[in-house]
Amino acid sequence: MHNSDNLQFLLNDPNLSADLKHIAQKVLDKQRITFDEGVLLYEQGELGYLGTLANYIREERHGDKTYFNRNFHIEPTNLCVYDCKFCSYSRLLKQKAEGWEYTMDEMFNMVTKYDGEPVTEVHIVGGVLPQYDVPFYQELFARIRAHRPELHIKALTPVEYHYIFKKAKIDYATGMRLMQEAGLDSIPGGGAEIFDPEIRDQISKDKCTADQWLAIHEEWHKLGGRSNATMLYGHIEAYKHRVDHMERLRQLQDKTGGFQTFIPLKFRNKDNQMSHVPEVSVIEDLRNYAVARIYLDNFDHIKAYWAMISRTTAQLSLNFGVDDIDGTLDDTTKIYSMAGAEEQHPGMSTKQVVELIKHVGRQPIERDTLYNVVTDYTNFVIGDEPKPQYYKLPVIN
Ligand code: SF4
Repeated sequence: MHNSDNLQFLLNDPNLSADLKHIAQKVLDKQRITFDEGVLLYEQGELGYLGTLANYIREERHGDKTYFNRNFHIEPTNLCVYDCKFCSYSRLLKQKAEGWEYTMDEMFNMVTKYDGEPVTEVHIVGGVLPQYDVPFYQELFARIRAHRPELHIKALTPVEYHYIFKKAKIDYATGMRLMQEAGLDSIPGGGAEIFDPEIRDQISKDKCTADQWLAIHEEWHKLGGRSNATMLYGHIEAYKHRVDHMERLRQLQDKTGGFQTFIPLKFRNKDNQMSHVPEVSVIEDLRNYAVARIYLDNFDHIKAYWAMISRTTAQLSLNFGVDDIDGTLDDTTKIYSMAGAEEQHPGMSTKQVVELIKHVGRQPIERDTLYNVVTDYTNFVIGDEPKPQYYKLPVIN
């Protein structure tokens, strides 16, 4: 059956509304949908309808290819000068007994621990504290770069960059250039939360604004750098706020083309100041992936974190627009497990990740950070591995 047959079936469905048929036709014709159509998809699109559209786009772009990578995390600290209401990870300065603050040497030693391991990326992100400033990160990046030149350094979000550049009294363009010169290779997608100012103010007051978040990514893209973007969904936002968030990303992507991947992050309610807010269902997770795939027509990849939504839901998500499930994990991050994610001690070997993808009829592709193919496991049989290998976890900040 051709990939477009299911869409044709929708277009011939007498029970489907004219508005939803119009959107399906646009997807078939590779036309961009509008803001109002994005909201309509959230409000009226049923799971099967959204999945059909999103899977069509996914397969047009990537076929069955499903990406993962191998990396490890360094989380400099779980203390933070900010106080985001949804954050289960940060411990306020007054609760210092529960916190950690790694030194430069401790972080560098975490990198050397992976010497000889087949990792391609180090992902550095954590809380915001004054001692982690521009000179600190310049030195850290430079030491990692000198020690292991091929290791991709993906580090810090605009939340940290805005804070450290302001402290150093330098503008974003200068700051990002200094980071690049020190060895920074790309920026992860965190800190975006929800861009709408009213919602943002309620859940993560004081840290960088939407405009500042976007401006830092723009400066980075101007330097030729690539980055990702997240969206924290399923808390107090409305559908229009999710579409607004994606619209702002779509506009910047039109301008720079520097984003690689969009990563929806599900709000988890364990042990944070928003524990009274119920979590959304798995069905809503899948609908959200699908709408993102349909709306963000200029983003190459949509990623789901299996450790956050469970392995089974991650498998399902591959039919709802997702083409990247991140990878196995080696417990090098606590951000999501502390927020009540499905996997409290996440870890899968390469073999398990490959099988998880193959079991739902997709092609497992190990990638590097920039989506160059490291290994195509489609016809590759892996023996039993003596120990788990290392992958990254999602981050909120
Ligand atoms: S989400 Fe990030 S910026 Fe906000 S409190 Fe947590 S660690 Fe700090």
